[in-house]
Amino acid sequence: MEENPGIKPRSLRDTSAQYIKGVGPRRARLLERLGIRTIEDLLFYIPWRYEDRKNLRNISNLSIGNHETLLAEVVSADIITTPRKKMKILEIVVTDGSGFLKCKWFNQPYLGKYFRKGQKVILSGVVKGYPDTNRFRPALGPDFGLSALSSGPEMENPDFENLDNEDGFIHTSRIIPIYRATEGFTPKQLRTLIFSTITQYSPLIKDYMPEDIIIRNQLVPLKKAVKEVHFPEEFSDINVLNQGLSPVHRRLIFDEFFLLELGLAMMKKKEEAEAGISFKRESALVDKFLKTLHFELTNAQIRVFDHIRQDMTRTVSMNWLIHGDVGCGKTVIAVLSMLMAVDSGYQACLMAPTEILAEQHFINMKRMLDGFGLDIILVTSSTKKQPMDMISGGKAQIIIGTHSLIQEQMKFKNLGLAVIDEQHKFGVVQRANLRRKGFNPDILIMTATPIPRTLALTLYGDLDISVIDELPAGRRPVQTKVFFPSQKDRAYSLIHEELSKGRQVYIVYPLIEGSEKLDLKCAVEGAEALRKIFPGKKIGLVHGRVRQDEREKIMSSFKAGDIDMLAATTVIEVGVDVPNASLMLIVHAERFGLAQLHQLRGRIGRGGYESHCLLMAYPPFGEDAKRRLKAMTSTNDGFKIAEQDLDIRGPGEFFGTRQSGIPELRIANLIRDIGILESARNEAFALTGEDPVLKKYPLLRDTLYTKWRGRLELIKS
Ligand code: ADP
Ligand code: MG
Repeated sequence: MEENPGIKPRSLRDTSAQYIKGVGPRRARLLERLGIRTIEDLLFYIPWRYEDRKNLRNISNLSIGNHETLLAEVVSADIITTPRKKMKILEIVVTDGSGFLKCKWFNQPYLGKYFRKGQKVILSGVVKGYPDTNRFRPALGPDFGLSALSSGPEMENPDFENLDNEDGFIHTSRIIPIYRATEGFTPKQLRTLIFSTITQYSPLIKDYMPEDIIIRNQLVPLKKAVKEVHFPEEFSDINVLNQGLSPVHRRLIFDEFFLLELGLAMMKKKEEAEAGISFKRESALVDKFLKTLHFELTNAQIRVFDHIRQDMTRTVSMNWLIHGDVGCGKTVIAVLSMLMAVDSGYQACLMAPTEILAEQHFINMKRMLDGFGLDIILVTSSTKKQPMDMISGGKAQIIIGTHSLIQEQMKFKNLGLAVIDEQHKFGVVQRANLRRKGFNPDILIMTATPIPRTLALTLYGDLDISVIDELPAGRRPVQTKVFFPSQKDRAYSLIHEELSKGRQVYIVYPLIEGSEKLDLKCAVEGAEALRKIFPGKKIGLVHGRVRQDEREKIMSSFKAGDIDMLAATTVIEVGVDVPNASLMLIVHAERFGLAQLHQLRGRIGRGGYESHCLLMAYPPFGEDAKRRLKAMTSTNDGFKIAEQDLDIRGPGEFFGTRQSGIPELRIANLIRDIGILESARNEAFALTGEDPVLKKYPLLRDTLYTKWRGRLELIKS
């Protein structure tokens, strides 16, 4: 390989990919779309799958129904227009001497330019055809009329790669990597580029991992891992590679987790050095509140609050996560904890993910704490200066709001406790931000989404977890059924039935207003229609564009029973609490996410009445939608729903790791690799115990800061 004379990279990390031979500024910009900026990024751009081109199939041995890969030569290429539908089909015929294969691409006539006669091409796809392929065996001879191929083996829309004579070595005769491509780079071009980058630059890869960690965890050397994750060793198992379970994958996954955990470990070290607040254990407000409750706490609620209370009295700062299914009564725990903080002379805040939920909490708090003589304040985007002064001056004791509560301009006098409701995106980085603003409050996170412990530790740092695994007595599981538009009348009569019993009803729509493009039912028109279908009933309408005070009024009258039916968008997804509501109709249920459906359903079944959730689904809809609806009708258990959701959406989406501020995981899979995560976490914490600022490992420290892209600045000082 020819050396690039232009540059001598100081390090792979600091050198832009544009200096790689054959890249240049224009293609470098295209690479950026794949997240590749530096030479190092390119080396770590991992293939998403592999293809075994060692043992290519002969056409005569193709098995119908299997995914096969073969090397052949183009015999003919034609574009055929179907007479009726005017569809353009590109048909090529290829041969490898053992037989002929026909390949078709639909409505992509421009692909024709890739297939001149005699061109060698690798094809990969599912074989179709008829069992009687014997007729195309070579015995028939290559001159056999092509027209007879009309019933031979075929592939539809196979992946293909043209081969030139000189590049057979990179692209065939071995297990080859397949990359996700982008404009300007086919998978094959990426393969060529990465091959030459490895050849030229891999000697510069330095292993930053401490030797004893490598030995203890039987890690392959980094250089080897980087080379072979792209171009695997001769005897590698293609299945193991494709599952990301090879030793070279393991090394790279370990490193990703290790660098993540190392950052967390350092944050934690810093945090431990700072004292937290020790609240008074005895609280008259707490006692008073418990007396005013018109129900008994469940055993689970008692246990969880005991833990929290104990932790709040300690001098280290608290970081607690409560899991508990929708409706298990997390809010009460929040109120108790906040009262404890207030009784010790601190402010407490409750952060909700949406404005409407914040408003709901605000209304509830004011009602529950009526007569306590406390100043409770709601902060929204339109909050004026005067209430702000109450917060910074310390007059306001309980502050409810959205994320705006932790924004720069927000000033608390002495925030002691922050409760974060239904929020998966408040992770370690956000917590570090909060601390940097000058207070070190205890934190209580409440979520309905169960996550594995190790993962919770990773997303939230060092925290304690408790589960409220019990619903208040008298809850009835909600009956959930799927309805199709043709069954509308049946749904309406169920609604009538509930209304006539004095119950109330939610109707949930995917949109506020109709969109011509999507033709979906929407809340505004829906409410109009409902007024005609249910004359004499009071129908309310809430959505994100209703003014806040108006919204508050509508919600209060719904709660008071003055409104019979509430037409709404998902603004009511969480937190809304009207025990008399016993039926929810979700329009276009096929368009909602599973977690969302479960949250919505959690609004009913709260009052001890038999309750119904009607999922109105508009066909046609896809597999995933089917699975979501099935999950909803088969269980009411939030933990089972979450498992299904994870399965359908995949971990990145599900856990919202993308927004959590921790370094992105590119190779590691939070579910598949949880065992590796545990080892990496242990090693990282042990290492910071022994060498808190990585004095002995400058290369590792460097790598760490690069990976966290400045977010670790928070802990540097
Ligand atoms: P979530 O955990 O979903 O946030 P909430 O805190 O909103 O649940 O509680 C749901 C409803 O259950 C509320 O109306 C609340 O007053 C009620 N609730 C909470 N705890 C109990 C209990 N121990 N017994 C009876 N009802 C309860
Ligand atoms: Mg809640």
